[in-house]
Amino acid sequence: MRCPFCGAGDTRVIDSRLANEGASIRRRRECVSCSERFTTFETAELVFPHIIKHDGTREPFNEDKMRRGMLRALEKRPVDIDVIESAVDRIKHRLHVSGEREIKSRELGEWVMTELRELDEIAYVRFASVYRRFEDVNAFREEIERLQSDATPEAHKRQLSLLETCSDKRGDRGKAGDKSKDS
Ligand SMILES: [Zn+2]
Repeated sequence: MRCPFCGAGDTRVIDSRLANEGASIRRRRECVSCSERFTTFETAELVFPHIIKHDGTREPFNEDKMRRGMLRALEKRPVDIDVIESAVDRIKHRLHVSGEREIKSRELGEWVMTELRELDEIAYVRFASVYRRFEDVNAFREEIERLQSDATPEAHKRQLSLLETCSDKRGDRGKAGDKSKDS
């Protein structure tokens, strides 16, 4: 690999040993050009914690399963696949850096919701309504209101119309708040 000191293209390994109880390899390198020495670590990339399900059983983290759940919530929403993949990567990163051997599925679900909330409000509400199993319409309304309370003014406006759309559907509010429903 390239020397971090002088940028020369060639360095040689002068020592190599196991580290972190065998989880990684530590290499001592020397630049053939400037003779500076530095250390590199080689570690397996995919060490995810297990997921503790609601019933207490454990299962390995399943990236595809998580992605499928997110894509279902994002169906027909205007969100680029690249942006979704970045969100998936961020969640995987959180799993890696959590340093836990096991993590509650509820916690993973919250992370997914945090990401979806940034990507698309509708997808977020879809996911949350399934995930949190809103027991009644009031719980759903509370969630929408919670969304509103810490949103930017622009997002706030969009969420207001979302809330009113929900109310209109149930017919408990007389006025039409969402113009897109009028046409
Ligand atoms: Zn060098």
